[in-house]
Amino acid sequence: MEMHFQLGKCIGIFQPFWKIIFITVLFLFTGTSAFAQDDILEDVLKTTDQLNQQLLNITSISDKDENKIGIELDKEISKKLIITESHKFNVGLLFQKIKAGVSRKKINYRFKIVKNKEVNAYSIAGGMVYINTGLLDFVSNDDEIAFVIGHEISHNEKKHCIKKIQYAVLASNINQNLGAIVQAAYSVYNLPFNKYQEYEADELGVKLMTKAGYDRKGALSFFDKLKKLEQKYGEENRDALNDFISSHPTAEDRKEKIEKMQD
Ligand SMILES: [Zn+2]
Repeated sequence: MEMHFQLGKCIGIFQPFWKIIFITVLFLFTGTSAFAQDDILEDVLKTTDQLNQQLLNITSISDKDENKIGIELDKEISKKLIITESHKFNVGLLFQKIKAGVSRKKINYRFKIVKNKEVNAYSIAGGMVYINTGLLDFVSNDDEIAFVIGHEISHNEKKHCIKKIQYAVLASNINQNLGAIVQAAYSVYNLPFNKYQEYEADELGVKLMTKAGYDRKGALSFFDKLKKLEQKYGEENRDALNDFISSHPTAEDRKEKIEKMQD
């Protein structure tokens, strides 16, 4: 464990330096457009993720343990939430249909509707998805909700949630018992994902929703509406912790990526 911890520190120091050099060189000598820079940043984030993956493989957590962590984490999170059952949309049916297309079959995918006016949804390790009533009031049809559910499930299909916990465990050098890991998980569960992870969850989210028979136009109309909401909030008032109304990536960027997706 001690050696892994040192390795993590070492990679952590070099990554920002490498990133800056790489982006600067490409920017100065290739006359890249703003759009190409965005692609470069995406590549850098992707590479960083791959390097970190080697580190995470050392401290891998089984699906069974991830589910256990998820159950304990949900108990903690739910203490602060008001859970409600009723809503005009049949979220249960939508969720079941999308869940049928997942690859991580052992993960305990499920959801809770949270009484909260904020337009948001989020997921935690072990498969729980929290959907705010504010988001359900905001969307107009099943296709739009299907995209949001697909996106949230994708954060776990791509292991984004458990990775945050693994980083927290690596960084704090704690004893790896369930209680300690759950505490570490609680301290990081609502930290935002990076831009590349958001694009990745959008892409897989669209695939999962269409596989379940929903129209991908729902993803596009969702981001059109979100764009208007972003303008209402203004750049400075956006919540960095919100999975949809954050400053990066913007609704416009995300919609553009989905439009470019190949079937
Ligand atoms: Zn997300």
